[in-house]
Amino acid sequence: QKQFRLFNVTISNITMGDAISSVINSAKTPQCDSYAFVNADCMNIAYKNEQYRQILNRNTHVFADGSGLRLACKIHHIALKDNVNGTDMFPLLCQQAAEQGVGIFMLGAKPGIANKAAAKMQQRFPLLRICGIHDGYFSAQQTDDVINKINASGAKILLLAMGAPTQELWIAEHSSKLSVGAAIGVGGLFDFYAD
Ligand code: UDP
Repeated sequence: QKQFRLFNVTISNITMGDAISSVINSAKTPQCDSYAFVNADCMNIAYKNEQYRQILNRNTHVFADGSGLRLACKIHHIALKDNVNGTDMFPLLCQQAAEQGVGIFMLGAKPGIANKAAAKMQQRFPLLRICGIHDGYFSAQQTDDVINKINASGAKILLLAMGAPTQELWIAEHSSKLSVGAAIGVGGLFDFYAD
């Protein structure tokens, strides 16, 4: 089946390739589609946090991330097609985005971290357009400025790395004001690629 339910969270059962195609297609649409990854840790948070759970259930896709999800599916006799995690997706998404001229905005992590991750991808994919970068430590009063910066950048994909569930709540609250076609919560992704 194309999706399944685990602890009241609807999760997509798709391959990495189909996940990336969906994000790229969303990037080309005017409205902002929301995406999330859920690992075992996220499932624990969702179990207790109804708001996060409801937001996840309204997303275009929730990707099954990591071995904890694989194990949970095995126990529930669900044939999971793929491990769709941010670490594996990031370079593949950058490659597709570069080929299709889709710009990316990287929001989140400590100052300088996303810049390092961006430089790495830029080196691998020279045609990649990282349209803008902003760290994830801004005040509520600065939020409008951050949104304006994203919109002015011309980016069509927003990667938001502020940890779950903060990033998912942020996307849900602000997606109607964003001119990107896809917004994805990516957790500790920028830290991983900054090293
Ligand atoms: N972060 C942020 N702003 C905050 C709190 C956290 O940008 O106010 C960043 C933090 O620097 C890190 C990421 O959010 O880059 C959270 O990573 P973590 O691995 O904790 O997230 P998870 O993958 O567990 O959701």
